[in-house]
Amino acid sequence: MPATTCYLCGSDRTREFFCLPDMPTQDGIMCDSFEAARSVVRGDTRLQYCSDCGYIGNEGHEADKIAFGRYDFSLDHSPLFQSFNSDLCAELIDRYALSGKTVIDVGCGEGRFLAELCRQGGCRGYGIDPGFDNDDAEVDADLELVFMREYYGPSHRTLAPDLLSCRQLINLLNDPYAFLESIRDNLDPCPDTVVYFEVPDANYTLNANVVWNLVYEHRSWFAPHSLAEMLRRAGFDVLRLDSRWNGEYLSVEARPSLSSSRKPAPVIDHGAQDAIARSVDALEANFAAMQQHAEAMIEKIRERSIRVAAWGAGARAVTFFNLFDLGDACPAIVDINQRRQGKYLPGSGQRIVSPDALATLAPDLLIITNPTYAAEIKDHVARIGLTPEFWIL
Ligand SMILES: [Zn+2]
Repeated sequence: MPATTCYLCGSDRTREFFCLPDMPTQDGIMCDSFEAARSVVRGDTRLQYCSDCGYIGNEGHEADKIAFGRYDFSLDHSPLFQSFNSDLCAELIDRYALSGKTVIDVGCGEGRFLAELCRQGGCRGYGIDPGFDNDDAEVDADLELVFMREYYGPSHRTLAPDLLSCRQLINLLNDPYAFLESIRDNLDPCPDTVVYFEVPDANYTLNANVVWNLVYEHRSWFAPHSLAEMLRRAGFDVLRLDSRWNGEYLSVEARPSLSSSRKPAPVIDHGAQDAIARSVDALEANFAAMQQHAEAMIEKIRERSIRVAAWGAGARAVTFFNLFDLGDACPAIVDINQRRQGKYLPGSGQRIVSPDALATLAPDLLIITNPTYAAEIKDHVARIGLTPEFWIL
């Protein structure tokens, strides 16, 4: 597939550097049956890099293959993540004197971040998210909070917020630039509004070589330079860029620009562009090596006809099992999340089971899809008296 012009700056100095063909387009929702899992919507993840502005986009992304619904997992429940949220609220309230002011969170999910902002700052909060579900929201009735189960658009102009936050969303949108422009248009009457956007940091993802996280749903992978460039082009003055959550995330704070020109001349930052170019090269080389290793492992599994199981049915498993066909060799994946148990992995269709089922499966080889939990999983396996080989992705 030939490279196309850059989505962000229109340059033709682009290069496709990574391709996962025919992947499930959504990896956050497990399927109710094997047949449903095998017939999920699929698309190609084709990452393209622009050497002019540093933008990385999935050029195989099609908006109608994604539905913004509920997910089976949210980081919001982790105590560490809650404390990250709480510190971020304190920082924004302090820096922009938000006490008693109006805040909007676009793509608010369960509304925890917004509720925390309102709790700490005594703010009025509006949460906008088509996937918002009242049953999941755990918010204090004393807070001045309104949730709108809808997409953000021109009708929200009258809310005139002092802060508009939008976390982990613009990287998923099919046309993030148009979305930023619609926010900028809505803010015409309130030039003092601060916007806060947060996305995964492409430099982290590519350098950490977590190819399993390069999922179809992400239309854009931003590095500091390309994120700032998009804000500038949409009519914002960038106030600051920060690395957050141990370098995994990137945030930008900005205000509507007073100059009337949209799409100003690009700012060339050679240092930043070199950094992202190196990340792209590293990913390309590492992915080729990893793919070779995995294919050799799978050949051995087939030759020896051993029993295989896996642990961890998240996005990493979806990418792995759809990239490498283990066929009947690995029928089940253990997962501690009860919402996933009894369901099937999108695409490849492995059954998702509870840890109790592992003794019956008695695998000769256990694939651990997330290295973060490897020690914990090995402990569990030893406690129930199994001694499989491990393959940690
Ligand atoms: Zn570009």
